[in-house]
Amino acid sequence: MAVKEILKIGNDTLRKTSHPVEKFNLRLWLLLRDMADTMYKAEGVGLAGPQIGILRRVVVIDVQDDHGLIELVNPEIIAAEGEQGGPEGCLSVPGRQGFVYRPQKVTVRAQDRHGKVFELTGEDLLARALCHEIDHLDGKMYVDIEDHEIVEEEDEEEQE
Ligand code: ZN
Repeated sequence: MAVKEILKIGNDTLRKTSHPVEKFNLRLWLLLRDMADTMYKAEGVGLAGPQIGILRRVVVIDVQDDHGLIELVNPEIIAAEGEQGGPEGCLSVPGRQGFVYRPQKVTVRAQDRHGKVFELTGEDLLARALCHEIDHLDGKMYVDIEDHEIVEEEDEEEQE
């Protein structure tokens, strides 16, 4: 296990544009492993390179469905349809959630850890995670596009 520190909002690195991966070598595989370890330790459903200070276009996602761990290198969204609105959080913005509109379904073209190009289509939470993580590679965060912050209501006084 190599769990890395997750950068928090306010850190300039999170706002930079990540560079494409050109070498599909051991260094990339170690980065992917560290990112997965870090995501699972933090109990997140996705993590992008910049969140651990690495400005490379690399994303890991696991929304606890049949896909298991998804590794995306140089991903780009090539199709999007529909709309969903729902709560969204980010490991770089702890203790907070926002209500964010995203496409209902997206198709991503990416490379795997060996450089092989593939396409992946996700709906619902997976579509949301794909959009959210790929945004990170361009220095974008959900707080930029949220409709409103979701504020948990205080426990009200006992009432009938
Ligand atoms: Zn995030």
